[in-house]
Amino acid sequence: MIHAMQQYDYDLFVIGAGSGGVRAARVAASLGARVAIAEERYLGGTCVNVGCVPKKLFVYGAHFGEDFEDARGFGWTSGAVAFDWPTLRDNKSREIERLNGVYRGLLEGAGVEILESRATLVGQHDVRVANSTVTAANILVCTGSWPFVPSFPGSDLAITSNEAFYLPDLPRRALVVGGGYIAVEFAGIFAGLGVHTSLSYRRELFLRGFDDGIRRFVRAEMIAKGIAMLPPARPQSIERANGGLRCHMSDGSAVDADLVLMATGRRPASKGLGLETAGVTLARNGAIPVDDSYRTNVPHIYAIGDVIDRVQLTPVAIAEGMCVAHNLFGGESRHGGPRRRVNYENVATAIFCQPNIGTVGPTEEIARQRYARLEVYESSFKPMKHTLSGRSERSLMKLLVNGEDDKVVAAHMCGPDAGEIVQGLSVAINAGATKADFDATIGIHPTAAEEFVTMREVAR
Ligand code: NDP
Repeated sequence: MIHAMQQYDYDLFVIGAGSGGVRAARVAASLGARVAIAEERYLGGTCVNVGCVPKKLFVYGAHFGEDFEDARGFGWTSGAVAFDWPTLRDNKSREIERLNGVYRGLLEGAGVEILESRATLVGQHDVRVANSTVTAANILVCTGSWPFVPSFPGSDLAITSNEAFYLPDLPRRALVVGGGYIAVEFAGIFAGLGVHTSLSYRRELFLRGFDDGIRRFVRAEMIAKGIAMLPPARPQSIERANGGLRCHMSDGSAVDADLVLMATGRRPASKGLGLETAGVTLARNGAIPVDDSYRTNVPHIYAIGDVIDRVQLTPVAIAEGMCVAHNLFGGESRHGGPRRRVNYENVATAIFCQPNIGTVGPTEEIARQRYARLEVYESSFKPMKHTLSGRSERSLMKLLVNGEDDKVVAAHMCGPDAGEIVQGLSVAINAGATKADFDATIGIHPTAAEEFVTMREVAR
């Protein structure tokens, strides 16, 4: 198959060097394909530069304030503690630059040609990049997504997560607007760093789509940490006032803040790529519709990751990228074997709010519709560390079991290291473990995680 592609400059041209694109390019090149990747902004895309990675570093940074306080109950005294924002910001940026270099090395090591320029399609096999036009047998579009800010007067005075990673100064008061991953994560980061933080969401309870019990639990914990939860409303206008910003809300209230962060979703970044010229159909929100092999309506043009707007998560984009590379250039499918597919069932995910949320499988509300006999196991407790720290923070764990066949169908947790714990559980759940398997597993003592194998009483 690769031989038949020699009429083109490349076997695969990848547009966008984010998580999905880099993986697809590397795997394709390692399978013998001639691959180029174009990137106009930064190697590693959103995740590495203005997403998962710097966010997690900020989450670590934000937690130290509590750690200093908690240490007292364990006998530690320290002088006055102080936080210096430029140190955290700039150390983070240095680490990101190091990772940009790592990504460059990985691509070069795999033999992928890196073109640091915007690429646009000028024909079905033709790509305009860095003042020249090249041809490719296959094209993969993985240009990701970009923060969406609703339009209202003064909305340009607000920032998005992109800018939050490079703030010149930490604000004294921050208003975070939205109720998704980014809103709750940044509310926790700001509050942890000592910023007076308010969270404004347009409905009653944020994190729509997550388990209701977990949502209520984390809301109470966030309030206990000093985050002000504003009544449901949307911002209607923002103006400069008293040296800061005043945000007028749809319920008639006004919120004063030094910084307004709009975390109101991300939209597929598909504009200006020449997709229309190449005949690729777009959905109304800009997403690129694809089949289960990530083919667009033009069979040799593929798309993966945030730009297809299925699941906006780095590991999902990576799985999709591997799938495309293997199906195009891997031995199995070239010799008539099965095509690889991505399993979107039971994708485990974590939200790095404070405390963290880790989750795999359906919410209790959805599981109740899906299974006639649902057993809910639930445990809420004070983590051992806080018996001495004196902190009131609690953890919540839930296991959902299909009473018909005893299979564990979901695990939800809010508490320290929830993501670390739920990752392991997701293997068991995806492998079809039963509640009896969980019960037969000996716990690791004393941990919070052992609670997942020691819950015996059905709560509901
Ligand atoms: P989400 O789609 O998760 O949430 C968007 C939020 O904004 C929702 O609460 C939504 O409300 C609200 N919203 C949307 N439009 C408006 C509007 N016009 N006015 C007021 N509110 C509005 O987006 P995020 O920006 O938080 O994150 C984008 C994606 O990035 C996530 O879906 C996630 O997949 C990914 N991500 C993953 C992380 C992780 O794995 N830890 C971390 C950060 C991001 P409503 O609920 O009413 O629709």
